[in-house]
Amino acid sequence: MKENAIEISGLKKSYGNTVALQKVNLSIKKGEFFGLLGPNGAGKTTTISILTGLVFRDEGSTLVFGEDTVESFRYTRSKIGIAAQELSVDWFFSIEKLLYFQAGYYGLSKKNAKKSVNSLLERLGLDKKRNSRLRQLSGGMKRRFQLAKALVHDPDIIILDEPTAGVDVELRRSLWKYLNELHSEGKTILLTTHYIEEAEQLCENIAIIDEGKILKKGSPKELTQELGSSGITIKIGDVRNKFDSFLSDYSYTFNDNRLHFSVKNPDVAMPDIIQKLSENNIKIQSVESNSSSLEDVFLDLTGKGIDE
Ligand code: ADP
Repeated sequence: MKENAIEISGLKKSYGNTVALQKVNLSIKKGEFFGLLGPNGAGKTTTISILTGLVFRDEGSTLVFGEDTVESFRYTRSKIGIAAQELSVDWFFSIEKLLYFQAGYYGLSKKNAKKSVNSLLERLGLDKKRNSRLRQLSGGMKRRFQLAKALVHDPDIIILDEPTAGVDVELRRSLWKYLNELHSEGKTILLTTHYIEEAEQLCENIAIIDEGKILKKGSPKELTQELGSSGITIKIGDVRNKFDSFLSDYSYTFNDNRLHFSVKNPDVAMPDIIQKLSENNIKIQSVESNSSSLEDVFLDLTGKGIDE
């Protein structure tokens, strides 16, 4: 059995009267790319803040590589690199210096710090800006700096809070590419996002969270297969026939020479429908299918769109 990098059970947290988390259970395997997907206020930041010791839990347990994040804080914190949403660093120093401070915080030797800082600055395209201050960087560069800061001590687990919120498409793609590289190097990645596409593109497994509760977990494919339905639209040339008798297994609508089916499992349904139509001498002009997206699943589960 693969060891779990992160194990959260029965986690509860309230801020005064606001319940942020109600009995959250999650386990994330070593090397897994995991997404916590939910709208604003769902409890994503609270969850990761508890894991990294920035916020205290009320109840439940949070383990990192089997160690409690409160009792073994130094160990668990050393295993995690976090790229938070907001930058809370001293604006006076150069970004290179800030990375050295971070390396020092984790107890890296001078030699190792130098190696790590140089390689990250280069890899993240910040080499030429090493002497700049943060406020002199573009928004995209600040994001990359945050990532560099999270990676300086070469952590096994990387936690990213909304890594691409508010960034343009180009930067989003380049961050995705970089995260995929880190994943293929064996890092465990936990990201929070309210971009369904991001979760779908990057994550092997996803937990959908809303109002402090995990509503569903699974791979994007499992979630869309289990909960969603796919549409199949077949344009036919002959409308004289009646379909009710031989298509009674399916739910469908018919208008403008188009039969539209909503099916759970298009791989099985599509050939069957085509066969039935052919057997009944109905001429097929075109076939289209569109699988349901994670967006539909999200809508089904929460009763609302992610941006609401
Ligand atoms: P998300 O990251 O999914 O947007 P959060 O974890 O930030 O959600 O917030 C979960 C809930 O807890 C929200 O209702 C939010 O308003 C509340 N909350 C978060 N942080 C605090 C805080 N420091 N004080 C009071 N309420 C908070």
